[in-house]
Amino acid sequence: MSLIKQKHVKLYKKYTEALIRDLSKSIILVNEEDGGFCNNCFYDHKNKSSSGQYNGTGPSSFTGAICPVCNGRGKIIIETQKTIQAVAKWIEPDSKSRQKEFVPAGLINIGFFRIKTLVANYNDIKSAKKIIIDGNQTSLMSIIRRGLKDDVVAIGYTTINED
Ligand SMILES: [Zn+2]
Repeated sequence: MSLIKQKHVKLYKKYTEALIRDLSKSIILVNEEDGGFCNNCFYDHKNKSSSGQYNGTGPSSFTGAICPVCNGRGKIIIETQKTIQAVAKWIEPDSKSRQKEFVPAGLINIGFFRIKTLVANYNDIKSAKKIIIDGNQTSLMSIIRRGLKDDVVAIGYTTINED
């Protein structure tokens, strides 16, 4: 006999979802799509990058080695953004030494964000190229699904990107 009944599962789901809704803020999932070959330079198929030569018809003529339109990649990358709601908290591993001190995210380059959101966002978070939280560009370290019987939330950890 299971101690966790269907009504408990339902209640847990209901309150967890309400809690996330109440405490959450917007975080931005950024993805990159292939926008095709650069319209400003010749593509080097062998090296899979820009040939470094202006194609004569593009919007920005250049004579240096790096095409200003594609930054030398030879392809255009289109960034797409999706905003989701998540509870996001900045956590510092060694916060003992400055327990009561409030340190804004990104000021000291240690620590990570813990994000908690509805499980429906799991795949989008997992495939995101970067995640913007409180204006910080971060990358996903790990993500798990949690719930009583059914998965209700996704919990992920992200670090702030170096550049
Ligand atoms: Zn180019």
